[in-house]
Amino acid sequence: MKVNGYAAHAATAPLAPYEFERREPRADDVVIDILYCGVCHTDLHLARNHFGATTYPIVPGHEIIGRVSAVGPDVKRFRLGDTVGVGCMVDSCRQCGACASGHEQHCEQGPVFTYGSIDRHDRTRTFGGYSQRIVVSDRFVLRVPEGLDPAGAAPLLCAGITTWSPLQRWKIGPGSKVGVVGLGGLGHMALKLAKGLGADVTLFTRSPGKERDARRLGADHVVLSTDPSQMAASSGRFDLIVDTVPYDHPTSSYLPALHFDGALVLVGYMGPLAEPVNTGPLVFGRRALAGSFIGGVEETQQMLDFCGARGIASDIELIPIHQIDLAYDRMLKGDVKYRFVIDMASLDAPTRNST
Ligand code: NAP
Ligand code: ZN
Ligand code: ZN
Repeated sequence: MKVNGYAAHAATAPLAPYEFERREPRADDVVIDILYCGVCHTDLHLARNHFGATTYPIVPGHEIIGRVSAVGPDVKRFRLGDTVGVGCMVDSCRQCGACASGHEQHCEQGPVFTYGSIDRHDRTRTFGGYSQRIVVSDRFVLRVPEGLDPAGAAPLLCAGITTWSPLQRWKIGPGSKVGVVGLGGLGHMALKLAKGLGADVTLFTRSPGKERDARRLGADHVVLSTDPSQMAASSGRFDLIVDTVPYDHPTSSYLPALHFDGALVLVGYMGPLAEPVNTGPLVFGRRALAGSFIGGVEETQQMLDFCGARGIASDIELIPIHQIDLAYDRMLKGDVKYRFVIDMASLDAPTRNST
């Protein structure tokens, strides 16, 4: 089927309208008319080729909310008209140990990502949510709880699960002390989710102007990371610090802030650190420096259900799709409150309601 979307064609060119083919639905597929798609900093990294490995054209978008418009004959869990979500993955081998234990993001054969990946069956390239519709195997489609605003729910599919997963793995609950570094898309979801789980929550930010919002979003304390005296006062406090900063920065200021046995979990920056890691605070405090990558399908559903029960959604700025480059530029400056979400009605494509 022909689908309209927006694609990046080169690292330096603005995103532009792009028509492409999606597969006809297979027996286990769900066809989803996309209503909203969140704008993740990863979209920016990949559209602008920050990792040097992007294959163009690329249609970004992996925070997808839409309505089911068709289902294959084997699909039992979804019906026409259901509001559903799709996150960062659309397939995996489904058989390896990682898949069998609900960690499809660590599939031993590699997960199939929502965009920029190769389909396991027909070897075609996957295209993401900056588009009219998407075709996804039912196993990778999420139920969106009733009552959640669909636009505000879109960022849960990546920003939500990426911050939820370390909170679960480090068993955060009432009495836990959680730090969050960076108040953007991931950071604001981390504040909401950690608060929702009952933790005492601290935001570390380089931006003095974000304090009021941070408290509204769930922070009990705010530390200006550029102020050495405020950083020193944080020493030895935290069970978990989730670091969402997208670019290289020192870990030396955060490791001492952990309590004995605490963990600094990097979810933002993915690359070599310029400043060597000081193993002293790791060894003497039995602290851990760790990473975390999105979350499994079942874990994503659990996060969505938790958000549905608590009324937790993202704070969004709804944009028309032609403002996507402006949104990327604002993200680079840290000027996001706190997630851009594309209103897909703005795509205004001639084939939008034709099938
Ligand atoms: P975002 O909305 O742009 O937020 C990033 C925040 O980091 C900013 O608001 C800012 O907060 C802080 N920051 C500090 N130094 C910065 C700098 N030099 N440039 C920009 N921001 C800086 O980004 P996001 O969508 O939350 O994504 C954050 C990172 O997570 C990205 O690198 C993305 O690729 C990655 N990611 C990882 C996973 C995973 O599975 N691990 C999943 C999704 C995204 P303050 O002003 O408060 O300091
Ligand atoms: Zn993302
Ligand atoms: Zn697998």
